[in-house]
Amino acid sequence: MIELDALTKRYGGTTAVDGLTCTVRPGRVTGFLGPNGAGKSTTLRMVLGLHAPSSGTVTVAGRVFGSLPRGLRHVGALLDAADVHGGLSAVGHLWALARGNRIPRSRVGEVLDEVGLSSVGKRRIGGFSLGMKQRLGIATALLGDPPVLLFDEPFNGLDPEGVLWVRGLFGRLAAEGRTVFVSSHLMSEMENTAEHLVVIGRGRLIADESLTAFSARS
Ligand code: ADP
Ligand code: ADP
Repeated sequence: MIELDALTKRYGGTTAVDGLTCTVRPGRVTGFLGPNGAGKSTTLRMVLGLHAPSSGTVTVAGRVFGSLPRGLRHVGALLDAADVHGGLSAVGHLWALARGNRIPRSRVGEVLDEVGLSSVGKRRIGGFSLGMKQRLGIATALLGDPPVLLFDEPFNGLDPEGVLWVRGLFGRLAAEGRTVFVSSHLMSEMENTAEHLVVIGRGRLIADESLTAFSARS
């Protein structure tokens, strides 16, 4: 469960996130919809503990930001898939993360299998396509078997088959009782993906309702 209460983030004169209050429940896929620049990535970074809120609070699994245990066993995230050290192999990258997060090495093979990258595990990430980088980012999110998972624009760079695969994966993760929060700037990507939607614009909450209810109104 993720609880945001009047969550606000300012960068100088820009208010990226403006008094956001909502609850993201476990056991279903929640979409995080809003145009580019709406404040989705900034919100997800605060949930991850990478950025401190300017005001308001973010609570994950009952723990307020600051007292939140960091690391892949608590919250897993796909943030910016392009932002991975290209010199490493996929296996090397995941081994390093596993070691740093006290996750057994055996998980690396499991998650590579799960995202369909087993056959290219030894190859340098620098040569990966965007879709392969997305899959590797998803493997990173899954590595620590966390109860809360954040996916920022996960469909970018995926081919149609990849889109179907990732939708199925999100559904399975939610069915296991996890909190799955998926951002996108496209309503079309939310259809057949999310059961519930949190919609934002200019950092503010626009809607927090089922996808069916939101579709019926817009
Ligand atoms: P989204 O993920 O919905 O596209 P972002 O959270 O990336 O939106 O950005 C929200 C707003 O905050 C934008 O106006 C963006 O330019 C601004 N912003 C994001 N990160 C920074 C930063 N590090 N410094 C200054 N402004 C930022
Ligand atoms: P280091 O301390 O060696 O930088 P970190 O574990 O802090 O290692 O982070 C390594 C990479 O993993 C960074 O790109 C960071 O943004 C990313 N990262 C850190 N925590 C998470 C997380 N919970 N989910 C997904 N990626 C994460």
